[in-house]
Amino acid sequence: MSIPLSPTVQKLKPSATIAAAAKAKALKSTGVNVHEFTLGEPDFVTPEHICNAAKEAMDAGHTHYTPAVGIPELKQAVCDSYQRDHGLTYQPNQVAISNGAKHSIHNVLTALCGPGDEVIIPAPYWVSYSALVELCGATPVIVDTTEESGFCMSADQLRAAITPKSKLLMLNNPCNPTGAAYPVETLEALARVAVEHQLFVMSDEIYEKLIYEGSEFRSFATLGEDVVPLTIIVSGVSKAYAMTGWRIGWTLAPVELTAAMTKLQSQETSNPCSISQYAAIAALNGSQECVEEMCAEFASRRTYVMQRIKALPKVSFAEPGGAFYVFFNVAEHFGRPLPGGQSVENSSDFCSALLEHAHVALVTGDAFGAPGYVRLSFATNMATIEAGLDALEKFLS
Ligand SMILES: *Cc1c(COP(=O)(O)O)cnc(C)c1O
Repeated sequence: MSIPLSPTVQKLKPSATIAAAAKAKALKSTGVNVHEFTLGEPDFVTPEHICNAAKEAMDAGHTHYTPAVGIPELKQAVCDSYQRDHGLTYQPNQVAISNGAKHSIHNVLTALCGPGDEVIIPAPYWVSYSALVELCGATPVIVDTTEESGFCMSADQLRAAITPKSKLLMLNNPCNPTGAAYPVETLEALARVAVEHQLFVMSDEIYEKLIYEGSEFRSFATLGEDVVPLTIIVSGVSKAYAMTGWRIGWTLAPVELTAAMTKLQSQETSNPCSISQYAAIAALNGSQECVEEMCAEFASRRTYVMQRIKALPKVSFAEPGGAFYVFFNVAEHFGRPLPGGQSVENSSDFCSALLEHAHVALVTGDAFGAPGYVRLSFATNMATIEAGLDALEKFLS
């Protein structure tokens, strides 16, 4: 007898990036040397001073429940970091600490959106965006962006997508999977449209510290006094401090919305890990040199990877201004026979054939609402990058 699962879960798609990583891992466990590029997390170890703060927290007995959306010291550290980095003044009652930015996104959507609401999502988008919108009963409205525009949505595109049902825009800057870092003028134009239509904007800024030469990061909340009451910043420590396993994220939002998310989180999960909260304080209040060092390493890998991908036959991409991904178009390889005799017809086929014959693991663009593309994460060591790109080049030529 099969278990009669809830309609919500029956409709829910599994995370495609996690599935791709699992497939690569399964092949690896058979003894194959897999060149793994599916990972959406820094390969660095969490900096020592952060780990030490966690050990000290345990020794000091900080191993019990905390307030549902975080201890006051961490909320204050978040406020201080936005004042320092962006000149933004937030109060602790506008901060909700969660079990990671993904959890924060769920909180925002559940607190704000429901059946009948439309949520505008520029594509390519992070895998969980559309799934989480559907989970809260709202309707995702996908707006396709182009490689020529650097995968940035324009104000005109936003205006055209707005209907009386539009509630929220989900922006991701810099973007996973494209690496797009929105130019300030584009952000300003989007902000004007949002204000005009009183549209809420969730700005997922989890990659804000990973910005490369030629690009600039601006937090959405800096775009005007009238933009702040509509803005919900989502971020966390995962990407900037190599702390994906610690599960600490946050929102900066209007007081009323923060209170709603607090109520929700107090019923759903209670507080995020107490020890991780102390580690996050050390990350935010400590020296930011570790962030600069990791970013510099990502920058040199990015330069190398872009140069190699540029040299591949019949492949195109928009240079990533931030994050640690290159998102490239392989559609010109569809329909022609590849090693193994198969012909591939779409990005998912392409990724399967590539994994099977070249042992290179990428994530299909289909997962990000971008057929024809594949995502390569350069959050892995140079030896893997070099060997993997050699294998990819051989597969394509
Ligand atoms: C990694 C990632 C997150 C989630 O981060 P966690 O804090 O680890 O949950 C959110 N948004 C984007 C775009 C990401 O790539």
